[in-house]
Amino acid sequence: MTDYIIVGAGLSGIAVSEELLKLGKTIKVFENHSQSSSTVAGGVFNPIILKRFTLAWQANEQMQLALPFYKGLENKLKTGLVHKLPIYRKFNSVEEQNNWFTAMDKPFISLFLDPDLVPSINPNIPSDNSFGRVKNTGTVNTKLLLEKYKEYLGNLDSFESADFEYDQLELQENGCAYKGIQARRVIFCDGFGLTKNPYFNYLPLRGNKGEYLIIKAKDLNLEVAVKSSVFILPLGNHLYKVGATYDNVDKTETPTPEAKDKLLSQLSKIITCEFEVIDQVAGIRPATSDRKPLVGQHPKHRQLYCCNGFGSRGVLIAPTVAKQLVGFIEKDTALPIDIDIRRFDKKY
Ligand SMILES: Cc1cc2nc3c(=O)[nH]c(=O)nc-3n(C[C@H](O)[C@H](O)[C@H](O)COP(=O)(O)OP(=O)(O)OC[C@H]3O[C@@H](n4cnc5c(N)ncnc54)[C@H](O)[C@@H]3O)c2cc1C
Repeated sequence: MTDYIIVGAGLSGIAVSEELLKLGKTIKVFENHSQSSSTVAGGVFNPIILKRFTLAWQANEQMQLALPFYKGLENKLKTGLVHKLPIYRKFNSVEEQNNWFTAMDKPFISLFLDPDLVPSINPNIPSDNSFGRVKNTGTVNTKLLLEKYKEYLGNLDSFESADFEYDQLELQENGCAYKGIQARRVIFCDGFGLTKNPYFNYLPLRGNKGEYLIIKAKDLNLEVAVKSSVFILPLGNHLYKVGATYDNVDKTETPTPEAKDKLLSQLSKIITCEFEVIDQVAGIRPATSDRKPLVGQHPKHRQLYCCNGFGSRGVLIAPTVAKQLVGFIEKDTALPIDIDIRRFDKKY
């Protein structure tokens, strides 16, 4: 008997697996590589919404759990994953600069916004206005994390590189059976794949497509992240991620020429040096109608759970909500009402 089947090995599936393994539970994780949100993500952890200089939902609390969580995984997987990287916000106007200082009076924001503005950060990124530095930010190499974590699960005999066929799941009185595996519970961490999940597709997961370009710019020599109309994230070896786009209509994972043109047009207004496009990637963010995660127990089938809806902030959100879900199942602690899927019960 396996304690848990987990469907999906993105940021959600990994965080849930970690919480369960810490409690000594046995797990079997299925991954069919149908979704790539966690693989293509910029991996940025940044608690500040850089449009309005406000704190993202519960970001301060999430930061406190997320960093030790990923640092712990670095030790466990014996690989570097976290890269501290300040973000420089390019101001479009003096008014935006003033908003930066106004924002610093709000709780917790001053922990992250540097009061000393910088007139210039790089000769190839000219600006009429100055730049504000966001502190305590960085990136997690999500692609490497997923690769290494799946390897680790494989060594525990807890990983199946296979499609979880929802119609093969047999619900029983005190658990379930799936292709010869007896399990007490199933946790669905299937990202935008949830739209094909007959148990949870009643939830309002909208999805939002994001695309990034990978460029090579030999003369840029930028070692910090820059946020203007797009993010520019240094990857090393003169490579940079540029993006991402937001598209609520197209729900395919195929990179598009439209996104490429848009990003190139935005980028050419930010940097003045030459560059070449090396690659383009796309994924669907599991975005929700109320911008809050979708976490909890199925209203009818009590052995089924979901951990989803991280939108554009999976890196910060995943460790916190996975801990809350596992605490709810195993220790009977209450789920915060704003993430609990019971808020949509009436629509079931
Ligand atoms: C372009 C882009 C940039 C982003 N940048 C950032 C960023 O900088 N910082 C940040 O915090 N967030 C970022 N995000 C958002 C972040 O990627 C998501 O919040 C996060 O990855 C969601 O994780 P998840 O595990 O819920 O979903 P997913 O990553 O989609 O994982 C779900 C997994 O389930 C698998 N699966 C689905 N159905 C099945 C099935 N039937 N059987 C087996 N396996 C199945 C899928 O293959 C997938 O691996 C970005 C997203 C995109 C698209």
